[in-house]
Amino acid sequence: MSKVLIIGAGGVSRVVVHKCSQLPEIFSEICIASRTLKKCDILKDEVKNSKSKVTTAQLNADNTDEIITLIKTFKPELIINVALPYQDLTIMDACLETGVHYLDTANYEPIDEAKFEYKWQWAYHEKFKNKGITALLGSGFDPGVTNLFCAYAQKHFFDEINYIDIIDANAGNHGHPFATNFNPEINIREITQKGKYWENNNWVETEPLSVHKTYNFPEIGDKEIYLMYHEEMESLVKNIKGLKKIRFWMTFSKQYLNYLNVLQNVGMTSIKPVIYDGKEIVPLKFLKAVLPDPASLGKTTKGKTCIGCVLEGKKDGKPIKKYIYNICDHEKCFSEVNSQAISYTTGVPAMIGAYMILKGGWNKPGVFNIEQHNPDLFMDMLNKHGLPWQVTTL
Ligand code: NDP
Repeated sequence: MSKVLIIGAGGVSRVVVHKCSQLPEIFSEICIASRTLKKCDILKDEVKNSKSKVTTAQLNADNTDEIITLIKTFKPELIINVALPYQDLTIMDACLETGVHYLDTANYEPIDEAKFEYKWQWAYHEKFKNKGITALLGSGFDPGVTNLFCAYAQKHFFDEINYIDIIDANAGNHGHPFATNFNPEINIREITQKGKYWENNNWVETEPLSVHKTYNFPEIGDKEIYLMYHEEMESLVKNIKGLKKIRFWMTFSKQYLNYLNVLQNVGMTSIKPVIYDGKEIVPLKFLKAVLPDPASLGKTTKGKTCIGCVLEGKKDGKPIKKYIYNICDHEKCFSEVNSQAISYTTGVPAMIGAYMILKGGWNKPGVFNIEQHNPDLFMDMLNKHGLPWQVTTL
């Protein structure tokens, strides 16, 4: 029986709330706290038949003192941070002050610079260790399950892994001319930055979305995949034995890229403030306000996602190549938790990560990325809680 505080009430939070409330014997009390109280109350209402006791609270998670006050009132064992990456450090500070475990799905980035690095959060390792509390970073799908696929492959299939390609396909169609499947601001900041991959101990930069090829996905078929930088590579290069090269790829449709190009060319994706009507506004934040809310896309999205890792290396001196992946159906997710598959594939691993800290032995003090833990129970739970995975030999 554990109390958890879920911060954020967007698309991913909806899935975390549903999934945690499906396990009332573990998550006996849940508090949903976010900037807009009404959104918390809507989520609470969606799970009103659960045996978990659910409460809500208004919270500005940019303010550490406000988080500390809420923690002291609600007294959770763990915070599941599914607000935005900008809040990671204020929430970690509040956890340190109050001795509460921490989990998130995206690494900290400063609001005025699109820079995805673990250095800010890794710097908390000694402080968390000394306080006797755990932080689990990146417990979504990518980062998250993709890290775990690598850890599982390292443990069960390989003596050494030399090459990793993480490949993320969303073959879903939401019916809108242009929309993003998770927070538009975070998503567009990520996609419009330079590409980067790691080879022979060096990071190699590429122009944004300039490297691409066609890839044939199981159950989906051919899709164009684009090389991007993605945060899980930063920890995997430290934690996977024998690694020589790691890349991250994501699918985008021609239509999505055409819209993005136009928006970029006219300056709408910029994070530099401009003066409009005497007020300072950030173009990308304004764009977010006019785009469809990702949490509302579930109703109309059809099709599947396929996210996985292609791993090459050696076992007993012989070369081997494996593909570990999950396929997730947007409509099936919506029928279970009112959400599309991108939020679902993030929210389910967040719930499982929380379980692992509370009951599964992942409560070692310090700050950890997911592949630093024993992957077996988490992998087993993915199969049981809606994200079954498959392994093929290529
Ligand atoms: P949404 O924008 O739908 O939800 C974010 C929520 O956080 C909103 O409810 C928002 O409040 C709330 N919030 C924002 N700022 C604050 C604040 N200062 N204080 C309190 N609450 C705040 O985003 P998603 O649900 O799509 O994404 C959530 C997280 O999941 C993001 O960090 C994203 O990067 C991550 N993610 C990770 C993935 C993975 O595989 N690892 C994949 C997809 C997403 P309000 O409603 O008022 O705006």
